[in-house]
Amino acid sequence: MSEPFVTRSDILSWGRVVRAPQRVATPRFRDELDKLLGAANGASLLPIGLRRSYGDSCLNDTGDLIDMSRVDRFIAFDPAQGILRAEAGTSFSEILRLIVPHGWFLPVTPGTRFVTLGGAIANDVHGKNHHRAGTFGRHVRALGLLRSDRGHLTLTPESDAALFASTIGGLGLTGIIEWAEIALVKTDSSSLEVETIPFENLDAFWSLADASTEKFEHTVAWVDCLSRGESLGRGIFSRGNWTPYGFHDAHDDKTWKRVVADAPEFLLNPLSIGAFNELYYRLHAGRPHTKLQHYVPFFYPLDAIHGWNRLYGRSGLLQYQCLVPRATEREAIRALLEEIAKEGQASFLAVLKTFGDVPASGLFSFPRAGTTLALDFPNRGAATLALLTRLDAIVRDAGGALYPAKDGRISREMFRLSFPRWQEFEKDPAMSSDFWRRVSA
Ligand SMILES: Cc1cc2nc3c(=O)[nH]c(=O)nc-3n(C[C@H](O)[C@H](O)[C@H](O)COP(=O)(O)OP(=O)(O)OC[C@H]3O[C@@H](n4cnc5c(N)ncnc54)[C@H](O)[C@@H]3O)c2cc1C
Repeated sequence: MSEPFVTRSDILSWGRVVRAPQRVATPRFRDELDKLLGAANGASLLPIGLRRSYGDSCLNDTGDLIDMSRVDRFIAFDPAQGILRAEAGTSFSEILRLIVPHGWFLPVTPGTRFVTLGGAIANDVHGKNHHRAGTFGRHVRALGLLRSDRGHLTLTPESDAALFASTIGGLGLTGIIEWAEIALVKTDSSSLEVETIPFENLDAFWSLADASTEKFEHTVAWVDCLSRGESLGRGIFSRGNWTPYGFHDAHDDKTWKRVVADAPEFLLNPLSIGAFNELYYRLHAGRPHTKLQHYVPFFYPLDAIHGWNRLYGRSGLLQYQCLVPRATEREAIRALLEEIAKEGQASFLAVLKTFGDVPASGLFSFPRAGTTLALDFPNRGAATLALLTRLDAIVRDAGGALYPAKDGRISREMFRLSFPRWQEFEKDPAMSSDFWRRVSA
């Protein structure tokens, strides 16, 4: 038998900042996984999906990776009840192609459909409907977990509550998720009625957010993070509900535009980013309008350009996603945006969203009641890291948290403050990651 783990230098996370050779095995069948656990020769292991995490939570440069993205078969689908069981490497894109024609949709989806079922569980992902549906983990009915110390387990929220809570949002560190069963949601069609409303500053954002959560299933806002003074936090609010008009049309993935090379880094400077933000705001700043949108442009606008992360050049990008609780959210979001605007390093894509009260199922689940801000920064080395450390201080003082799926740099202290129940975590002794070594050292 040939060596299952192969050293590769093309394994990067979505931010493309960490560049180190990784040893990777790419199984196709679940029954190969036991042998892979044995073949690691004492090195630590980490199961991974499509590497849409931005930082180092899907990397393991001193151990081995198990790329689960080819273990991707449907196991069972009940189109009457909307229950789906699939292998952990199945992508959301493939799931949608199966379920949408039957009138079903994913209960929660992140802003890209190119994530796997296992990756979505291990980060307990959230979407634009967090205020209604909570996180993805709440919709997991059961999952198959292979642990190095306990073998093959079937977990439900009731069967082993502690290990289930560790595995939802467990960053791949509680074992290999082999398969999962999820509850889908019924939709009236594959389109949404979407309202787009410009707002002129942060106060206007809070008013819109407060007025929208009751009536709209999906809400999100884009913020111009270079605007200052009276216009601080101006942006575009988007809110939508599924519409009964239209068909149940699934997408096809044949029409991608693809970025094939790294963009030169001089293209991304404060002037060009400022001009983009200004242009985007002006394009949408007319009167509020309503339109029907298929689920792809509504939920997955960035998927239209495959490999858009290469636009940040060879140095890559650092994403920063934080959450601040309700009691401090207004003051903290203002302070964060002021700090970012002052620095002028900001990003094309700043997203602001209020989270609801629905409790998450995982110990390391990021969402909780409050407001989340997510931004991309071109990686300019020490200057960018210094800015992010200043943002950390604002988040820490506000009693907030950082999202591990987007992170490649937070300290052990910040991790523990973000996830105060970290000591209850039931880690698999064989699993580790670059992220884990950093935050647990
Ligand atoms: C454009 C874009 C938009 C995004 N929008 C959102 C958003 O709106 N909301 C949100 O929550 N996230 C968002 N994300 C982040 C993304 O949803 C998560 O990082 C997701 O977990 C990635 O899934 P993946 O399959 O690529 O997993 P990977 O990134 O490969 O891995 C993620 C984690 O899952 C673990 N893992 C993977 N497979 C398994 C398995 N079989 N068993 C056990 N552990 C496993 C890995 O060890 C790692 O810790 C976005 C990312 C991008 C690129």
